[in-house]
Amino acid sequence: MKTIPERWFETSNWIDHQWVRGPESFDVSNPATGSPIAQVWGADPSLLDHAVHGALQALPAWSACSPMDRGGILKHVASLLLDRKDQYARLLTCEQGKPYAQSVAEVEYAASFFQWFGEEARRMYGRIAPHPDANREVWIERRAVGVAGLITPWNFPLAQGAKKIAAALAAGCTTVWKPAERTPLIALAMAPLFKEAGVPQGVVQIVPGAGNVLGKPLAIHPDVRVLSLTGSTRTGAAVLANAASGIKRVALELGGNAPFIVLPDADLEMVAEQLVRMKLFVSGQVCVTANRVFVHRSSEAKLLDLVAQRIEHARVGNGLDEGIDAGPLIHDEACQGVDRLVQQAIEQGAEVIARNISYETQDSLQGGSFYPPTLLSNVTDAMSIARNEIFGPVIPILRYTEIADMIRRANKTPYGLAGYVYGSDLSVCHAVARRLEVGIVGINEWRPLRADIPFGGVKQSGFGLEGGEEGLHDFLTTHVISAPKPGF
Ligand code: NAD
Repeated sequence: MKTIPERWFETSNWIDHQWVRGPESFDVSNPATGSPIAQVWGADPSLLDHAVHGALQALPAWSACSPMDRGGILKHVASLLLDRKDQYARLLTCEQGKPYAQSVAEVEYAASFFQWFGEEARRMYGRIAPHPDANREVWIERRAVGVAGLITPWNFPLAQGAKKIAAALAAGCTTVWKPAERTPLIALAMAPLFKEAGVPQGVVQIVPGAGNVLGKPLAIHPDVRVLSLTGSTRTGAAVLANAASGIKRVALELGGNAPFIVLPDADLEMVAEQLVRMKLFVSGQVCVTANRVFVHRSSEAKLLDLVAQRIEHARVGNGLDEGIDAGPLIHDEACQGVDRLVQQAIEQGAEVIARNISYETQDSLQGGSFYPPTLLSNVTDAMSIARNEIFGPVIPILRYTEIADMIRRANKTPYGLAGYVYGSDLSVCHAVARRLEVGIVGINEWRPLRADIPFGGVKQSGFGLEGGEEGLHDFLTTHVISAPKPGF
């Protein structure tokens, strides 16, 4: 068994390169055991104000620094993080619950954003446009928006922070990061690493605390010019409303209801393998995970069989143990929420094909928030489980006959984040992918997201993009000077 690492950080606020205790504390628990692992002295609105003030003070020097220097610091963050992969991954598993191998993957994924934006920093080109008067010209420059307020969720507590911080810092913004209250430790653990990599005082401030205490003060703070949230659609609406009075720029990465489409000629072994891996990944608590699996009626029986075998063999347990496929959910209420959706579906005619309760006999897991990987057939569009984000290791199978009608059903949701198409005829796969109202589609691929490509939602899944060259746009503004040509 891997052990909980020694702490190399404090559990309070990181403001201006100092640890600052807030007035009240909250506990952070390991979801695999239910036991508290840390007491965090988070921020109140007055400490948050202090953090924003420090970020504003740091802004002129950071945004004036050469993009190559900013990029160099970001690449240093990436290399330090990769050097300490094991330490960070173990901490991530302790507070989030995901299996150690998935935590390692998250650390690598986070580092890839620091590396990518470290490289992109030098490519924030402006341009000089011609003027109708031949003696004049127009300078079009890109500048940092200002102080960025960053709010992140608990499912990828390191990677979601990394995506935002790396892009904001590359652009020349300074940041105030409010991590999710369930998983603030990995954010705080980054503070000494940022400092060691050369991030100056005030450029990354970290203020743990509850969303309903700190969210509004951050969104309405007059010195915060851009807000970037990854979270639920409900929280996105609250942030947008709060930011409205200050006419702030807002970027929202919100919930999804991804269709996973199995075309009649799909390789069912590959589908079963990738579908189960996807749904066990972070135990299905992933915004882009398959939420509705549309299967052609001709392949349904075989696919159910292949998926059921894999569900039954999955190893569910404490993510610090070797060889675990799926860890716990984040807390007991999450298990209850998933179970409500499953029970309602069963009452309305869904059938349980497989349910892996192997962990129930293990004494060491009794305090944890585990939910059994479950395969459901006979799910219909009207059921709550097909209309809401499940956020658990449940695979609902929805039958279809006609491809055109299935695409209409796949798009009949207020969300539009990700979609998946599996099939052998790539021209049909492409035609289906093009018709999906989502931000990103994987064809015969379950994890299409990467640092070097843009990702963002449409409809109620939000707006703004993370990754790719586009990831910088939310943190940049355009500044134009129309002037005589130098030398005239
Ligand atoms: P959440 O919305 O409850 O919380 C997200 C963050 O917002 C937390 O830091 C929380 O403290 C904060 N928050 C809560 N209320 C707030 C308010 N009124 N004002 C400002 N901030 C507030 O979401 P969660 O439960 O932590 O995460 C799960 C949700 O996030 C799911 O819906 C999931 O789909 C979504 N998500 C989306 C993406 C994406 O890239 N689109 C990625 C991961 C998660």
